[in-house]
Amino acid sequence: AIPPLDLTGKGGFASLGPAFFTALQPTPLPQPHWIGVSTDVADLLALDAGWMASDEALQVFTGNARLPGSTPLASVYSGHQFGVWAGQLGDGRAILLGETPGGLEVQLKGSGRTPYSRMGDGRAVLRSSIREFLCSEAMHALGVPTSRALCVTGSPAPVRREEIESAAVVTRVAQSFVRFGHFEHFAARGQVNELRLLADYVIDRYYPACRSTEQPGGNAYAALLQAVSERTATLMAHWQAVGFCHGVMNTDNMSILGLTIDYGPFQFLDAFVPGHVCNHSDTQGRYAYNRQPNVAYWNLFCLAQALLPLIGDEEQAQAALVSYKTVFSDDFMARMRAKLGLTAQRAGDAELIDHILLLLAKNGVDYTIFWRRLSHAVAQNDFEPVRDLFADRAGWDQWLLSYSELLALTDKAVSAHLMLSSNPKFVLRNHLGEQAIRAAKQGDFSELQTLQRLLQHPFDEHPGHDAWADFPPDWASSIEISCSS
Ligand code: AMP
Ligand code: MG
Ligand code: MG
Repeated sequence: AIPPLDLTGKGGFASLGPAFFTALQPTPLPQPHWIGVSTDVADLLALDAGWMASDEALQVFTGNARLPGSTPLASVYSGHQFGVWAGQLGDGRAILLGETPGGLEVQLKGSGRTPYSRMGDGRAVLRSSIREFLCSEAMHALGVPTSRALCVTGSPAPVRREEIESAAVVTRVAQSFVRFGHFEHFAARGQVNELRLLADYVIDRYYPACRSTEQPGGNAYAALLQAVSERTATLMAHWQAVGFCHGVMNTDNMSILGLTIDYGPFQFLDAFVPGHVCNHSDTQGRYAYNRQPNVAYWNLFCLAQALLPLIGDEEQAQAALVSYKTVFSDDFMARMRAKLGLTAQRAGDAELIDHILLLLAKNGVDYTIFWRRLSHAVAQNDFEPVRDLFADRAGWDQWLLSYSELLALTDKAVSAHLMLSSNPKFVLRNHLGEQAIRAAKQGDFSELQTLQRLLQHPFDEHPGHDAWADFPPDWASSIEISCSS
């Protein structure tokens, strides 16, 4: 019989062999209950709705029951954390259950200790699991490359953080959870054979073009580095344009596929504060919003260093990173033009974008609300509600003059439509997540479900739900989110 979730896919991460992981089972949790499910991801995995609602599914996704065909494992990796070499890390609390025949990896996060847990307990708490679940699906709906989240289950089992919290498990899904840190691990140990096995695996499965375009004397590993660099550049353009701060851009949290992974102390900007630091533990501001594109580039240098034994030549490795800056800025500018409803590239648009970002920063304007109001303003030809957002009215009026000149060259209806599908009404602001978490802690999941529904279609108006698209309340600024999760 075909198992309800088919994890019998062949040739996946497990095929790399024992140097790359430890096979082990998740550690059970008592009295599990459902917290949230994404039917979109259930459909992606071709899961039967009836089974998904069953106690068997609840036990499987809490790590209490085994799926036939599944060979669970925790992978080993290393990495640079906050700019410092941290040595061996690894999946300290994530277990790969296996891969579907369609090539999707399914992981449990928070499913107990592994040989890579170091001082950790292998667990995740309800609070951070709800945040990862909601944000994965929200990012996907925004069009940002990301790992997905199938479900969250909870257990009354106590987990010690700053205070005692309860345990939860997120089931997450991606084509691959391989990180820059996997490459750094084998490079640092001088295990060139394993390094090559991993690079070949990643190229064959995810970047086959790196081989097919191979020139005589060409270098598939340099091509891989360039492809990863360009995907990462695109990801950074997405993050910056949508106002997303990741919070922990360590090299072990950088996806080799250019996906957003490892949701921790992330935050969507409220007011546009370019130097905003969302991670309370990041006292130096290393991962501030406006530093993200540079940090990603620094991380790519670490990857280049790790791939050097395969690339063989420092100049080729350096050359592979050259396109990062133009791919980032071209993609970022294209996204910002779409946010402005500009359908073509024209002289003066770069200044216009720089200028509005400067004004948003100077006036501390709410990032999401600004773009959404601007979209409606273009649609209705009434800019007063946008003007109200700026203390510096003269500055706004001046910007609007130059914007109007460029906007006059486009079809209004086309621009308005582009803007309303580029500027979301709903993003996962910290206080919204917090409200859903507070209710969930009391056993009430209705707020989580409402939020999930809004974030699944963030460009729709959702009449009657303007409160979820409003300015953050005063207490939002006192929410402190750290690495402790
Ligand atoms: P992060 O920066 O949150 O992605 O985690 C950094 C490293 O610490 C990863 O290797 C995680 O697997 C590990 N880790 C984080 N929290 C725990 C925990 N509670 N128990 C065991 N390992 C953990
Ligand atoms: Mg991580
Ligand atoms: Mg984490």
